Amino acid sequence: MRGVILYAPGDVRVDERADPKIVEPTDAVIRLSATCVCGSDLWPYRGIEAVDGPSPMGHEYVGIVEEVGGDVRTVEPGQFVIGSFFASDNTCEICKAGYQTSCVHRVPMGALGAQAEYLRVPLADGTLVATPDVPPDDLLPSLLAASDVLGTGWFGALAADVQPGKTVVVVGDGAVGLLAVLAARQLGAERIIAMSRHEARQKLALDFGATAVVTERGDDGVAKIKDLTDGLGAHSVIEAVGTQESMMQAIRSTRPGGHVGYVGVSHDVELPGQELFFSHVHLHGGPAPVRRFLPELIDLIWNRTIDPGKVFDLTLPLDQAAEGYRAMDERRAIKTLLQP
Ligand SMILES: [Zn+2]
Repeated sequence: MRGVILYAPGDVRVDERADPKIVEPTDAVIRLSATCVCGSDLWPYRGIEAVDGPSPMGHEYVGIVEEVGGDVRTVEPGQFVIGSFFASDNTCEICKAGYQTSCVHRVPMGALGAQAEYLRVPLADGTLVATPDVPPDDLLPSLLAASDVLGTGWFGALAADVQPGKTVVVVGDGAVGLLAVLAARQLGAERIIAMSRHEARQKLALDFGATAVVTERGDDGVAKIKDLTDGLGAHSVIEAVGTQESMMQAIRSTRPGGHVGYVGVSHDVELPGQELFFSHVHLHGGPAPVRRFLPELIDLIWNRTIDPGKVFDLTLPLDQAAEGYRAMDERRAIKTLLQP
């Protein structure tokens, strides 16, 4: 089969890879209907995260079950399924508490390489959720978004304790930040302030339910948020970037007693203890347990209540994956969908 391989920073190729096979009796193999490039794929692509030899890429996937191992009970060949970026058993204590990305048996899907024609999914019963039927093509982008960026934005909003009546700030205008806006809208936030300087992304944020846009960042951005909140800061702030600047911008935009939900993958972030101590801010976040939200998110998409697939503003055949990475790296595209 064909699949995306990252050879070195900036060097992405579509190569021939071995067809995945059932290895464990709990595995499934799926034929991908759509896959995509994640903002987090750009960390190794840019050389900020080490590239350790040729690596298969991709951890977002939807597709049709081709084959299942002998112990798989809840999915069967022919079903359309979605899973998240960690396979999980969904039965251990950590999974039952809703933290499937820290499952005691978790398997990172990125190592298996979802930017490909086929994918082996470990722990298929715990990991995969089937849709009510094989979806029409126009739902594919939204269902694919549920595999990571929608679920991650959703977790960010819940971790930030978004509730009706609250003022919410979203730091970061990538796909996750934009979908955190959508999540905050669904969860009933009263005001949603998106921090973005890019016109196309601002438009999408407003489309997803933002009530205001702030273009300043850093200290100026914090001052602007304070201006808009009677000097207090927001109740709930979602951090969807993962840098020192964005994390501090999030914490400083939050009022005492408020909540920061951080879902941008942290890179060299160090928190000043004393400032944190006196901030009275709750911090919660990490790799989003997307599996927890999949049934609810699939339902909202299936009923056409939400349309998170709008974050895909570039669609390419899998063979042109290199251009998909380039477009996101240069911020010409928010998110690239790849058609196997
Ligand atoms: Zn588990």
